[in-house]
Amino acid sequence: MDYTLFEAEKEIDRLSELLRKYQYEYYVLTRPTVSDLEYDRLFDLLTNLEKKFPALVKGDSPSMRVGSDLGSDLPESTHSIPVLSLDKAYSSEEVIGWMEKIRKNNRSDLSFYIEEKIDGISMVLYYRDGILERAVTRGNGFVGNDVTANVKTIGSIPLRLPRPYTMAVRGEVYLPLDKFSEINKGMEVPYANPRNLAAGTIRRKKSSEVASVPLDCFIYEGFLEESEGLTLPVTHKEVLDELELSGFRLNPRNHIFTPEDTSDNIRKFLDSETEDRSELGYEIDGLVIKINELDIREELGYTGHHPRWALAYKFESPQGETTLLSITIQVGRTGRITPVARVEPVLIGGSTISNVTLHNQDYINLLELAVGDRVTVSKRGDVIPAVESVVEKNEDNYPVWKIPDKCPVCGAELTLKGAHNFCPNPSCPDQVRGRLFFFVGKGQMDIENLGPETVDTLMSEGLIQDIQDLFTFDPAALEGLAGFKEKKIKAIKEGIAKSLNRPFKTVLASLGIPELGSRSAELLIEGGFRSMDSLLDAADKNDIEALVNIDGVGEVTAGIIVSELNKPEVRKRIDGLRSAGLQFYAPEEEASTEPQIFEGQTWCVTGSFEAFKPRSLAVEEIKKRGGKSVSSVTGKTTHLLAGESAGSKLKKARENGAEIVDEAAFLSLIGGVE
Ligand code: AMP
Ligand code: ZN
Repeated sequence: MDYTLFEAEKEIDRLSELLRKYQYEYYVLTRPTVSDLEYDRLFDLLTNLEKKFPALVKGDSPSMRVGSDLGSDLPESTHSIPVLSLDKAYSSEEVIGWMEKIRKNNRSDLSFYIEEKIDGISMVLYYRDGILERAVTRGNGFVGNDVTANVKTIGSIPLRLPRPYTMAVRGEVYLPLDKFSEINKGMEVPYANPRNLAAGTIRRKKSSEVASVPLDCFIYEGFLEESEGLTLPVTHKEVLDELELSGFRLNPRNHIFTPEDTSDNIRKFLDSETEDRSELGYEIDGLVIKINELDIREELGYTGHHPRWALAYKFESPQGETTLLSITIQVGRTGRITPVARVEPVLIGGSTISNVTLHNQDYINLLELAVGDRVTVSKRGDVIPAVESVVEKNEDNYPVWKIPDKCPVCGAELTLKGAHNFCPNPSCPDQVRGRLFFFVGKGQMDIENLGPETVDTLMSEGLIQDIQDLFTFDPAALEGLAGFKEKKIKAIKEGIAKSLNRPFKTVLASLGIPELGSRSAELLIEGGFRSMDSLLDAADKNDIEALVNIDGVGEVTAGIIVSELNKPEVRKRIDGLRSAGLQFYAPEEEASTEPQIFEGQTWCVTGSFEAFKPRSLAVEEIKKRGGKSVSSVTGKTTHLLAGESAGSKLKKARENGAEIVDEAAFLSLIGGVE
């Protein structure tokens, strides 16, 4: 059929409109209303007409989906919105803490969106008056590559919008997993992952080649420009709704969290997303948490490289590659040997790592680690860094590293206990130093003005050999030493004197006895060992049973504590501290005046309460009345005090047959609170 120019234009418009509708139905809604055959027929009609009348071809023509064979170098293009990276978190606690902080510092009624962090290629789409004008890769955040022709081949990205918006839209281009494996099947050298394949594809020179790869795109942000008669959205939700109306494909798994949602809800969502990850049909490497209210976003703004109103929750800990330079040995205060890898300094998750613990020989064997190997190191949140794997063996054929037979500090023959090697010499200088550092440190005796450096000086001057010597050495001996002025010496004396009042529990936990930390010390004292003598008495009789009888003290723990207390060097320390006048006795707490109605019962408290904020107030009420409180439900738990939105513990309590008590019932049991 021969058309005049005028007729051709009308026919092109008609076909384009139809095809646009069909493309939207097919790519975005995934619900086509015409057969492929009919679609192809219309498509052919359009492309034939466009071939005959090239002047009539528009940039937003549905025919752009097939791309072009014309090669193009990817020109650079400047972004008109900030395209930054995201701040990262690696645990749900960090995420919840961040949300709480934002609410506290801004408004308590803020909502948050949690979206999947699609592992693909970041794309910014610039629309002018409703027409897709540029598609630009992230590049360095300010300048990216113009890949417009290639992006036009992605069926779910609208080339024109129903309304003449001028806006920037952000999304992630990705290759669905099933498509990826199909493509990879025939490959001689398969692609490493869908992300790499998508990244390579989107940068091809010929858009017709791009069209043959079924890329897709999820849109997640829109930045509308002001224009007459347009009411700008004020929340992320409104933006997303508008984008959806405009024909963009959004991720249906995005979820909004209002102030009514508890942190438990959020934690569950994060967990379930993590679990669902492998069943999604596309790859995600985390979640993104964003403030919903746009005015607050604007107030918070951006740092140099990320918005302050969003946070990425990454599933994987950040990793870096580096070289293992050497392995050294640390001797801990209990004599435990810890091999430590010295690596070429590498920046991971914002901090420079140069030492990584290797735990023990088993750990090293598992990794088959040798000096000179290239390794990946990970760092997750505030957890210590770890060697994940060897990526390349050293060229010198160094064998897997072995812990030596002798203590590198004192020369004593090492012994093996469980998975760990130990230096058996209690006077090994590193053990002594470790014991002293621990004893004076925060959380233990917390002796003011007696930091590690001072302890080192005291040791090297021969003034102290062990912890008990701290209370007998003559501070005057420090006079004349560099850095020890009169004032400082006085402060040291005062610090030591003050520490004499630390409670028995603290003294006990500061001895540095394995398995006897502050929690065990508390259990022992509450369980009736109110004095050092009663404990030593049990040790003398080797009465492990007496310790095991205390709830929370296991057989192994009890055994270790008793055998440690029977070691001569430990007795010597204890005797020294006794003569120094440290607290060796925990006075009985004032007896409760409440009737002991919960005697013999074990309570677990969960959820939130009206009358008990914080929740620990409810725990106190239970203890006052003779009940025991535990933090998790076990077979021994007799009662569960379940507040608002009690979670998994409720289920567990039911399964274990514990009595479930709600707040009202609890209040009537205890006769109300004042
Ligand atoms: P990163 O590059 O690890 O700092 O993470 C930021 C990148 O995550 C962005 O540039 C986006 O490409 C990508 N991303 C994927 N999904 C989303 C989403 N739902 N919201 C924001 N960014 C996302
Ligand atoms: Zn040693």
